Amino acid sequence: MDQYFDERVESIFQTIRKRNAGEPEFHQAVRELLESVAVVLKRHPHYDQQGLLQRLCEPERQIIFRVPWIDDEGNIHVNRGFRVQYNSVLGPYKGGLRFHPSVNLSIIKFLAFEQIFKNALTGMPIGGAKGGADFDPKGRSDTEIMRFCQSFMTELHNYIGQYTDVPAGDIGVGGREIGWLFGQYKRMRNSYESGVLTGKGTSWGGSQVRTEATGYGLVYFTQEILKHRGLDFDGQTAVVSGAGNVAIYSVEKIQQLGGEVVAMSDSTGFVYDPEGIDLAAMLEVKLERRGRIVDYCALVPRAEFHEQRHRIWTVPCDVALPCATQNELDEVAAETLVKNGVKVVAEGANMPCTPEAIRVFRAAGVAFGPGKAANAGGVATSALEMQQNASRDSWTFEYTEERLATIMKRIHQRCIGTAAEYGYAGDYLMGANIAGFRKVADAMLALGII
Ligand code: NDP
Repeated sequence: MDQYFDERVESIFQTIRKRNAGEPEFHQAVRELLESVAVVLKRHPHYDQQGLLQRLCEPERQIIFRVPWIDDEGNIHVNRGFRVQYNSVLGPYKGGLRFHPSVNLSIIKFLAFEQIFKNALTGMPIGGAKGGADFDPKGRSDTEIMRFCQSFMTELHNYIGQYTDVPAGDIGVGGREIGWLFGQYKRMRNSYESGVLTGKGTSWGGSQVRTEATGYGLVYFTQEILKHRGLDFDGQTAVVSGAGNVAIYSVEKIQQLGGEVVAMSDSTGFVYDPEGIDLAAMLEVKLERRGRIVDYCALVPRAEFHEQRHRIWTVPCDVALPCATQNELDEVAAETLVKNGVKVVAEGANMPCTPEAIRVFRAAGVAFGPGKAANAGGVATSALEMQQNASRDSWTFEYTEERLATIMKRIHQRCIGTAAEYGYAGDYLMGANIAGFRKVADAMLALGII
């Protein structure tokens, strides 16, 4: 019987792989989830009915559209826009928008697929989606980016709405872009629908803490892992990759909790600061000037810059938080981290660790927090923003942060409890995948074959 379900899941995966050829990131995300699901089917064979697994892996809707725009010199550009509305069984589709030249259907599908289970783990009533465009905002003027956002929304507005699909930010899409996207939506619909986008400015419907939420949430989750091992952040050394929204606010919270962050990176390299990252200097370089990370060394001369960004993982640390992008931490990096005594690795980015790297951590007994649990604080706070918009309310920073911290504690308990129940004590990956899957699967069975 056990082998039957392993073979059944493998055969479903092979069919999905064939039908979605050339989409390696999507295959990677599906395979990881299905491997955990085999364990659930062995105990609860009723999930293997109504074509549940096949339906779960097929997006409800995939939208691909043209985004034409004109640069400051009058040249016309054409980008490709995407929105994958994957699963709405728990609530309106919810998930960010990514503007980056690497964006393609495989990347958006893997992100949307992960989002389903992440959103389920938050306990909030939201389905899973993701979107974006292969547009590169780097080097573009404010007016060019605004025109791009307006053109993108001119098409996207047909498919979203506060009860249908509620996008937010992701790589390349921050508060500024959400403003331009919301402005265009409002204009196209002649309706002030606050709840159609999250990550809005706090003076026009946004939630306090949304900017900080993913990073803060990641650190709260990591703190729970440490506590579970009888430790806390005080005196721990951390390495955080990336220098964007998630990385910066992770660093801020680690420092507030007494930890020391000694390295950060961007796509051009990493900086090592033996006395701990000076966050004010990093904020000036990355947020105010939108500069490169090497500029940090001009402000903080004690720091060293290294060009090979992936070598950030050679810096010894107790806690490693990959917060940049998918597959940024491979097997070799994982082995180096383990050799250097890392205790906890938690994913701020989506799928930043390769499957081989995850195997290394699990084999070495390193606590590994998968992204769908560890970085769920961002979308959870987006759901809090939707709640405030629906009730025309506005909460304080302190109250909202307290709700976020409680949500992250509950996600941690859910992962730990579920992992133990299925015989995988301490395995956050199994716990997150199984708990997320069961919540979505139960709702899918209840709603019939749709
Ligand atoms: P940002 O665009 O704000 O920042 C991304 C950062 O990562 C930039 O500093 C970028 O550098 C850097 N980067 C990109 N590629 C690499 C690389 N290969 N090596 C090192 N650094 C790199 O994005 P976010 O912080 O919002 O998102 C980061 C990750 O977190 C993504 O995986 C995203 O999906 C995930 N996430 C984000 C959430 C959010 O609320 N924002 C919620 C949950 C997950 P450069 O500027 O040079 O490109």
